[in-house]
Amino acid sequence: MNTRMFRKILIVNRGEIAVRIIRACRDLGIRTAVMFSEADRTAMHVRMADEAYSLPGNTPAESYLRQDRIIEIAKRSAADAVHPGYGFLSENPEFAERVESEGIKFIGPSARAIRALGDKTAARKVADRLQIPTVPGTSESVSNERQAYSIASKVGYPVLLKAAAGGGGKGMRIVRAEAELANSFRTAKSEAENAFGDDHVYIEKYIAHPRHVEIQILSDSQGNAVYLGERECSIQRRHQKLIEETPSTIVDNEMRKAMGESAVRLVQAVDYGGAGTVEYLVDEHGHFFFLEVNTRLQVEHPVTEMVTGIDLVHQQILVSAGERLSVTQAKISPKGHSIECRICAEDPQDSFFPSTGLLLKYSTPQGPNVRVDNGFSEGDSISTFYDPLMAKVITWGSNRSQAIETMKRALAEFMIQGVKSTIPFCVFAMNNKQFCDGDFNTDFVKTVFNPKQVDPVSTQDQIAAAVTAALLQSGAQTKQTVFMDHQSENHSTWKTLRLESYR
Ligand code: ADP
Repeated sequence: MNTRMFRKILIVNRGEIAVRIIRACRDLGIRTAVMFSEADRTAMHVRMADEAYSLPGNTPAESYLRQDRIIEIAKRSAADAVHPGYGFLSENPEFAERVESEGIKFIGPSARAIRALGDKTAARKVADRLQIPTVPGTSESVSNERQAYSIASKVGYPVLLKAAAGGGGKGMRIVRAEAELANSFRTAKSEAENAFGDDHVYIEKYIAHPRHVEIQILSDSQGNAVYLGERECSIQRRHQKLIEETPSTIVDNEMRKAMGESAVRLVQAVDYGGAGTVEYLVDEHGHFFFLEVNTRLQVEHPVTEMVTGIDLVHQQILVSAGERLSVTQAKISPKGHSIECRICAEDPQDSFFPSTGLLLKYSTPQGPNVRVDNGFSEGDSISTFYDPLMAKVITWGSNRSQAIETMKRALAEFMIQGVKSTIPFCVFAMNNKQFCDGDFNTDFVKTVFNPKQVDPVSTQDQIAAAVTAALLQSGAQTKQTVFMDHQSENHSTWKTLRLESYR
């Protein structure tokens, strides 16, 4: 085997995940290059990386999705690998191909494997072939209304129209009765075209009150693959996850083995190399159905790291450099329980509406059994351009209730002033009997969460407000001052900040 460790990795992302990858690279002695849009000029990932390259513009289309500019930066920085993180270009097979055609390694599975599993209908076909149960529905996209009627009546209402290229909880429409189908079908197609540049939609049975349970897999380019247990991700808003944990309260050893082995068979069938996640829905009778594969690192990967002790980003990098998987299935023995709360700039009292502004006060929790994957600091701005995720708080406990107690302590320590956050929702969940009993499903936010029960001015907000008021009174708190403080703190000679505008 011919392993050549990378000297420099270009990270094509921003926020907490870019910071997370920088840390993994540092651990492995690899230099890092990042890029930044105009709004991100002073962002934490820029301050932390060894090199930073500017991208003009602010929208994802002008910046973090501009393949031509990114490839140019990859060449200019002499990076020998590109890590895409999640979102943006992470599941784009054309991008993976373009990177590799320049002789630069794409850290992730091959373009062929992304094509085979990244498209939801293509992945369903692979699962069907392997006789892995899929959510009842079609594995071909539906071409016209007549076909939609015939499939929906076979599957039985309610059904879900889903964009084949969908992601991030977008591109799904529930159809509860036949009368709604034609209209919903037309709307779903045009929404899919607008959001993903691909109007293919397919039909799935809408599973009532399901749990979302997923399996983390790791594989190398020599065909070795393992599963690292499950993650329970049922606490969601708008079909997007908010709280994740491992193990799931509904998964026993037998179910874990069945789900894990199915996931491994699926990735082995397409010669997958790298980290990936196979997602399932579990119905009220405990039956699991394949949902989709995410051919990249997941936001919620840290809970798996907390219980297994395996650093998934290290593993991604090592496997991409050609190393054999160093872990075997027999050696994976998760310990204890881990929970992650996503701290997003959203208002839980206003339907999780995104909140923007300046982080006047921002201080993250610390202490035993608490990990914080964070991408922001005090003085940074939260804009409308990107995903509202600011940080993730991850706790570990020898059992679930200990992990919950530690999460309550950590959330109380997190101080944010300047934007609304999902912290009050997470506090609600940690104190909710149904959540604590493990008795919940993907409807939790809609049916259990009561925004009126959330204390809008929590203790932490009061403390933060007092601190901010004191700072403002002393005249010390301006955006510029904060930025300069951070820059001087982090200044060091190895850093090359390339601020020249892109040519
Ligand atoms: P995305 O790729 O946009 O995240 P997924 O297919 O992974 O979309 O689904 C996201 C969430 O939407 C699931 O976790 C679940 O809550 C809901 N969902 C998706 N498909 C179904 C279904 N057939 N029945 C019920 N809920 C579903």
